[in-house]
Amino acid sequence: MKNQFKLKILSNKKITDKLYYLILEPGKLAAQVKPGQFIEVRISDGLEPFFRRPFSVFRCQKSVELFYEVRGKGTEILSAKNKGEVLDVIGPLGTSFSLPSKKVKQVVMIGGGIGVAPFMALSDTLNNKGYELVLLYGGRNKDYTFNMSEFKKNGCKVFVSTDDGSVGVKGKVSVLFNKIKADAERTMIYTCGPRAMMASVQDFAKKHGLKGECSCEEVMACGVGVCLGCVVKTVNGYKTCCKDGPVFRLDEVVF
Ligand SMILES: Cc1cc2nc3c(=O)[nH]c(=O)nc-3n(C[C@H](O)[C@H](O)[C@H](O)COP(=O)(O)OP(=O)(O)OC[C@H]3O[C@@H](n4cnc5c(N)ncnc54)[C@H](O)[C@@H]3O)c2cc1C
Repeated sequence: MKNQFKLKILSNKKITDKLYYLILEPGKLAAQVKPGQFIEVRISDGLEPFFRRPFSVFRCQKSVELFYEVRGKGTEILSAKNKGEVLDVIGPLGTSFSLPSKKVKQVVMIGGGIGVAPFMALSDTLNNKGYELVLLYGGRNKDYTFNMSEFKKNGCKVFVSTDDGSVGVKGKVSVLFNKIKADAERTMIYTCGPRAMMASVQDFAKKHGLKGECSCEEVMACGVGVCLGCVVKTVNGYKTCCKDGPVFRLDEVVF
């Protein structure tokens, strides 16, 4: 397969109790990835887990980087992999974020939990291009939050909320929507995270006439539009998250 690569692990570090940061050698993959795209990782050589697991590309400059949460068996196995081991990955897959139009001044990225992952690559691309970059990040508690210095280095103004108030402001990420200047002509919103969160972003955007895109992270199997396991309801009918998405227009998805 022409987009299948075997990439050596350069590091796989635990960041918090729940979050890991995996760096792979770039191979021929890194240069092909656009912000918002994902890769399918073969977790083990055995039958379990049978399907590859999808991950957004967190960064793809000198290496291919993933930021992931340990959720079940697959990510648990992944978290135990060591430097020097080789991962079999397919990618880049899916649609990417479209870049803001020339009129846009304010770019707002709204990430819930691990949904923040595709925004590092997006901020790498938009840094130093004259946009005001804002990142609103909502996590469950301190185990789901991390040092945002790399986003800040990319010129992002970062605001954090947690459900229990252990980091940043207490509450869902919607408590941070007041940081957004509701300037319809000059604002572009990007969001990724749990459905309920993206629904609240969609409502906010609709109320203020803001344009945006969302990246859906449905449970996925084949990753190439064949099994139809990851369909998303949209105003234009059902679409596959893996091939028609994961990035859709914010007003298109029915949450
Ligand atoms: C396009 C895309 C990009 C993604 N990017 C990232 C990323 O950058 N970092 C990251 O940590 N995760 C990401 N995910 C989610 C990641 O793929 C799942 O967490 C992973 O597949 C879980 O595998 P597992 O074997 O550990 O868990 P499983 O044993 O398969 O599942 C454990 C639990 O997690 C739930 N679950 C599995 N997949 C998802 C999902 N997609 N959304 C919500 N709940 C799920 C299951 O229903 C189950 O309750 C992404 C998913 C998609 C579709």
